Parts: sequence; structure tokens; C-alpha cells
Amino acid sequence: MQLVPVKLLFSPFRIAFLVFWFYLCMYVVQRFEFSPIVPKKLKASMNILMLFFGPLVLFVFIVAEAAGKILRHGVSFADAVRGALGRAVQIVDISHFSGARGKSSLILLDASGKDLFEVYGNAKNNKEDKNTLEHTQRIVSDAVDELASDILIDPVSSDSYSVRYRIDGMLRTVEEIDFRRCAAIVNSIKAISNMDISERRRPQDGAFIAKTSDGSISFRVASAGVLNGEKLSIRVLNQAVMQLTLGDIGMSERYQRLVRETLSRQSGMILVCGPTGSGKSTTMQAMLSELDFNTRNVITIEDPIEYVLPRASQIEINSKAGITFAKTLRSVLRQDPDVIGIGEIRDEETASIALAASQTGHLVLATLHSSSNAATIVRLMDLGIKPLLVASAIDLIISQRLVRKLCPDCMVTANLTEAQIETFRGKVDITKIMQIRGCSRCGNTGYKGRIGIFDIMVVDEVVKAQILSPSFSVSSFKNSGDEQYKTNLRKQAMKLALSGTTSLEEVKRVTANLG
Ligand SMILES: [Zn+2]
Repeated sequence: MQLVPVKLLFSPFRIAFLVFWFYLCMYVVQRFEFSPIVPKKLKASMNILMLFFGPLVLFVFIVAEAAGKILRHGVSFADAVRGALGRAVQIVDISHFSGARGKSSLILLDASGKDLFEVYGNAKNNKEDKNTLEHTQRIVSDAVDELASDILIDPVSSDSYSVRYRIDGMLRTVEEIDFRRCAAIVNSIKAISNMDISERRRPQDGAFIAKTSDGSISFRVASAGVLNGEKLSIRVLNQAVMQLTLGDIGMSERYQRLVRETLSRQSGMILVCGPTGSGKSTTMQAMLSELDFNTRNVITIEDPIEYVLPRASQIEINSKAGITFAKTLRSVLRQDPDVIGIGEIRDEETASIALAASQTGHLVLATLHSSSNAATIVRLMDLGIKPLLVASAIDLIISQRLVRKLCPDCMVTANLTEAQIETFRGKVDITKIMQIRGCSRCGNTGYKGRIGIFDIMVVDEVVKAQILSPSFSVSSFKNSGDEQYKTNLRKQAMKLALSGTTSLEEVKRVTANLG
């Protein structure tokens, strides 16, 4: 009989085992593909390894982890295996709430590198704790996916909390959570930020890190006791943003040329101005990325570091520990920098050191909180800087605002009123004017991303003469400067509406706030 080998080939056990092994391999591959613990560049080779040996690798990991525990801590064999198994499942499983949806997955770590599950309670054994921690992780990873700049968790009544994200400068409520669950979420965030969980009234500060497959993102946390409970504000820092150029942020060709020309000088100063949330730090980052880091020693002083510049030396100030802008700036000047980036000029001391540095062979880039170019000059004089220094130290002042861009997935041709059609008739192509509709990709807001509008003042002989003139009047200088600045920004915002980049409503909103 020749049937024996045929029989073996179709052995049901063998087939069942092969199918089981195959699925196990595929499962492990899929999990590792989304796992944040595997660096991106290793993913391809890791996938091949896992495709053939996935379950074996997991097994080896579990045995090694258990053996280590027994040797180091003298735990019983059963406990060690259970712990290692839990940890393996946790590493592989970490993505189940995000990875499977094709979104970013991450691991939250405290400053010493311990993960959320290690820091907060015994989540492995307690189902409810585990759900809480997964919820915390989801709030953070969704915020990262949505490119939120802040996460705000506030009690809205005595029995619920709201979670809001700030996206493109606007707050959006993403969920309401019942009081008990959210109090636990708040505690887990405080724990991982190294804050005192039992202190619920006094304001506290902390920080934590999220590790993703692309790198890491830092978060700054502030807590304070409020009516009905505790409020948490979480700032999302150095999101992995693309290297933005001056063109990307919306600067016109003419302005780009002006900025580049100044950046190519050995010394001088560019001030970026605007109110909070006007995109000053993005413009700083775009200017810094124009520099050749190989030939110029670039040092930045920031509070906090918002964008990571791979080849610059970035220093974060810490006023509580006495590391102030002014002090840091003094020490930086001793390190022979060619270019100094200053996060923000807030006081007289920083202002005078920065302006003096631009006079002594350094290129200084800085931001300043002010409403217009003329207001910036007035502000510096108010800080006590001599008009002569202001006139000679500064080359360019850039003032800016941000305009929300229409969501490209859902915008529709604008429904114009008779009056609007009459205004535009014969001057512009009204079919290009768009308005919002709202879809799932933009959270039903109709807007996605932002673009800057700019006004640049060149401090040339005319402006210098004005500042130094004995009849210089702060109010008239500021008034005429403000008027020119508003007209300029209105024109640019309108241009964006007429090209279908933003809506007429957004232009109205932004220009109404020019102040
Ligand atoms: Zn949309």
C-alpha cells in the first residue's frame, strides 16, 4: 500500500498545529508593527523575524524575564512567570486601543523612565485600574493624533469632568467622564508627572513623556484645586512636526527674501511679535531651520522647548530654580555663539543683553509679546531701553496672526449675500470663495490647520530717524504704525479668503481681534 505518507500529510493534528502557529505568528507581527517599543527603522526586519519566530521570541522573553525576577528578587516561580506573561501581553497589547485603528500608539513614561502601569497602582491585577490607565493613555494618544497643543481636564459639575483639546487655537470638548473615573485618571496623570497625588488644592507642576515609534513627545502638566474638584492643564510640547520653511508658514516671497537677507548677516536682530497663540515660535523655528548649522554655532534659550532642532544647542530655562532668561543668556554669550534664539523677551534685563549682543557680532532672533511692530518699539522703550540702542540694534520686526485654513475634505463654494456679490462684482472670481461644511476629518469644525499672516517692518534710516528724533511721540508713532499694520494684515487675510484658503467668516473673526 502506498497510502501511508498521504495519511500523514493530512494529519488533522498537524494541520491544526500549523494553522494555529501561522495565526499566532501573524498576531505577533501585527502587534509589533504598531508597538511603540520597536523603533521605526527596525520594523521591517522585526516583522520578518516575528513572522517566522514570533511566538518563540515571546516565549524566550517571558522565560528570561521570569528567571531574572527569581534571581534578583527571590520571587516564587509561579509569580515570576505570571508577572512576565503580564508584561509580555502588555508590551504586545499596548496598541489595541489605537494601533488597530491605524493611529499612533504610545507608552507614557515618567521622568525616570518608568511606564504608567508601573508608576500607578497594581493595574495588572485590578481590572478597573487597568481600564483607567488605558483611558488615560487614550486621552493622550488621541490628543497627539489630533495635533492638539493642550489637553484640559476640568470638573464641570459635582458629578462629571470634561476633557477638552486645543486644536488650531480653538478649544474642543472631546468627552465627558463621570467624576469617579476621571478623578482616577487625574491621579494617574499626577503620578506619572511626579506630582503629589494627595495634594488637591495647592497648584503643582510636573512633566511626563510619551514614547512613540517616531521618537518622544514631552508634556508639561499643571494642576490646581477648583470648585468641584481639580483642574489639569497639559501642554503638548515638541510634537514631531515637519521641518517648516518660511514659505510653509504662509510668508510672501517678498517677506521671505527680506528675512533670508537678514539671516545671512553676521550680526543683527530679528524680533517676532504678536499676542499669545499667534504662531511666534513656529516662525522662530522656520527661521532657525534656514540657518546652516554646520558653519554657525546656534544656541537657543526657551521656556519650554517647543520644537526640537536636531543640530542646535537648546537650553530650557527654569525660573523656579533660578535659571532665568537673562542669566542663561549671559552664560550663552560666553560660549561663542554665532546665532542666539531667545524664546521670549519678557524683562528689561533680557532685552538689554539681547540688544547689546546683536551689536557685538551676534545674530539674535527673539520673540516679544506685543500687538504690532510699532508697539514693539514702544514696548522696548517702556522697558527702559535707550532709543539709540533700539534704533541701532534691530533690523527687522515681524508681527503676525494665525488664520484657520478650510478643511480641504469638506469645504464648499460660499453662499454669498447679494451685498457681498455686489462688492466683489468685476473684481474677483467669486466661484473661488469657499465656506465651511464640516466632516469627521476636521471634527465637524470645517477648519484644519492654520496659516500665518505677516507684517514686516524694516528698521531702516527712515524709521531710525523717527525713533531718534527729538520730537518723537510715542502715541502718534504707535497709532500710525498700528493702522498700517492692521491694513496690511487685513489685506493678507482677505487674499486668503479670495483664493479659497480660508472663509470670509474666519477673516472677519481674525481681523476683528486685531485690537
Ligand atoms: Zn472637514
